[in-house]
Amino acid sequence: MLPNRARRERWREDLADALDLLIPVWCAGCDAPGRPLCRRCAAAIPQPRRRDADGLEVWSVARYADTTARVIRAFKEDGRTALARPLGTLTAELVRDAGWQDAVLVPVPPSRAALRRRGYAVPEMLARRCEARTARWLRPRGHVADQRLLGREERRRNVAGAFTARSRTGSVVIVDDVMTTGATLRAARAALDGAGLRVVGAVVLADTPLRAAAEDIPGGS
Ligand SMILES: [Zn+2]
Repeated sequence: MLPNRARRERWREDLADALDLLIPVWCAGCDAPGRPLCRRCAAAIPQPRRRDADGLEVWSVARYADTTARVIRAFKEDGRTALARPLGTLTAELVRDAGWQDAVLVPVPPSRAALRRRGYAVPEMLARRCEARTARWLRPRGHVADQRLLGREERRRNVAGAFTARSRTGSVVIVDDVMTTGATLRAARAALDGAGLRVVGAVVLADTPLRAAAEDIPGGS
């Protein structure tokens, strides 16, 4: 039996998929009717980029801008959970291209406040769409302030020690939605390293410079 939270999330995701069949949907990128993400926008999103967070290899599906930014905002802030499927497919391709499909995918957990507000965990929904094992080996620890209005050093301090992980062995890839300074990924890696895991890299949906993040990113860090 899945824990309550997982069951709720899955139920919500299944419901979103089911509703897509019943009620009119529109593309989160361009408002064209028909599907949550039209073929043209889906094709426009992937522009894989390699970033680095203190030696951690990070692959990003796209830069956070234009269509990609609109679609991610719709997914994270407007409850458009049906986007998990097409965006998860793009994430899965990146995991494959990076050669990481044999590692266990570990999604970054949302803060408790974000989970309460949103009701679902975006990185976990992405990870579950990949053809790799997914495990909730990171847990949020204590209070973490909203990163949006913080500078680089403040972000680092804000998330330092933000996660815990239980002792394990094996290779893992961290999955997150938006990377800004990489502070969250570094905190996640520290917890996983400390638990005995080998972090081979990270995959994010989008990455952005800090300047853009302060303006409109929903919780990227
Ligand atoms: Zn579109």
